[in-house]
Amino acid sequence: MSLAHVDPEIADLIKAEERRQADTVKLIPSENYVSKAVLEATGTVLTNKYSEGYAGKRYYEGQQVIDQIETLAIERAKSLFGVNHANVQPYSGSPANLAVYLAFASPGDTVMGMGLPFGGHLTHGWSVSATGKWFNPVRYGVRRDTGRIDMDEVRELALEHRPKLIFCGGTAIPRRIDFAAFASIAQEVGAVLAADIAHIAGLVAGGAHPSPVGHADVISTTTHKTLRGPRGAMLMATSDEHATALNKAVFPGLQGGPHNHTTAAIAVALKEAAAPEFAAYANQVVANAKALADELLARGFDLVSGGTDNHLILIDLTSKGVAGKPAAKALDRAGLETNYNTVPFDPRKPFDPSGIRIGTPSVTSRGMGEAEMRQIAAWMDEVVTAVAKDDAEEIVTRVHREVSALTAAFPAPGLS
Ligand SMILES: *Cc1c(COP(=O)(O)O)cnc(C)c1O
Repeated sequence: MSLAHVDPEIADLIKAEERRQADTVKLIPSENYVSKAVLEATGTVLTNKYSEGYAGKRYYEGQQVIDQIETLAIERAKSLFGVNHANVQPYSGSPANLAVYLAFASPGDTVMGMGLPFGGHLTHGWSVSATGKWFNPVRYGVRRDTGRIDMDEVRELALEHRPKLIFCGGTAIPRRIDFAAFASIAQEVGAVLAADIAHIAGLVAGGAHPSPVGHADVISTTTHKTLRGPRGAMLMATSDEHATALNKAVFPGLQGGPHNHTTAAIAVALKEAAAPEFAAYANQVVANAKALADELLARGFDLVSGGTDNHLILIDLTSKGVAGKPAAKALDRAGLETNYNTVPFDPRKPFDPSGIRIGTPSVTSRGMGEAEMRQIAAWMDEVVTAVAKDDAEEIVTRVHREVSALTAAFPAPGLS
């Protein structure tokens, strides 16, 4: 029996969410639209199968097909990123990172990562995360004058604290990560370097951001952000030794059975990401972000680090006289979906911060280009300016109408 028959309530809600996604200009930089093919692989009978272990060494029988699927996903990941080893089983980015800790550190060990308010991820040792509670985290940030990572500070902190593990990468970093500089610091102090490319994996795969391969000991990534796959994650390594430690950490260290329907969808997304059109997509994501940033700057917005090298823009709204949360809420009512975000050295609280974070992976997946980015910047300017004057409703209504015309002209992949 169909979903609509068994559970019309959930079926209707899924339809409503599909409509919402179709009608919104999605600017959240960690999201994307997967293809119909990826969606199809996700909703399959593979969800019925238990496969604890790895191909050829499982703890359940009946793996004739699953072994082939997981092996295909692994081979595609290795070939796409140019690594010797890949593990496609982590349930998501956070458990993948936890596996990195389990593989290379013990509770109480010193670890280093970017502080959350500067653009790091919770799992890079932030206090409320298990990684901050069970390990001794040392945090680096960005320079106040440039908004960029201060590699001198990273080196000084590493020499002083001698971490076992260093994370680079993050969730709100609008600039290139200097993997070579991190690698030389990690080598100097004998730390394992983990490059967390969750946000930029699609750009790396498409050649629009330098690769950590050859610099980082281990690479962690989600599969659902710029990589445009299902919700999931992968861990990659070059050396046998690091790969063995990661595999043991994922299973049996941290997880039970892998989500085989997700593994199949990851394999599909990796195949798509190896196609020439995906490289064009990745480069257009960056070109769109630059166009959006340029137009926002021209309209007097204050961008952290003064712009972007990748898919992401962090806006400090202080100069516009409005906080991040009311701006994000008004933009959402106008059909422009963003998220409010802390900015470096934010004087406001994380739940009511000074900034918003936007990005171009989703709008680029819809086929939008630089002209549409300039239009989006103009709408953002109108709405934010109106919110600052406490007189937004009329403008929000008009912008929403105009946004609907744009989304209708650029249908999103995977939606009907
Ligand atoms: C998104 C993200 C994660 C976590 O991924 P989840 O799938 O949400 O657990 C980890 N690290 C970075 C840098 C991320 O951007």
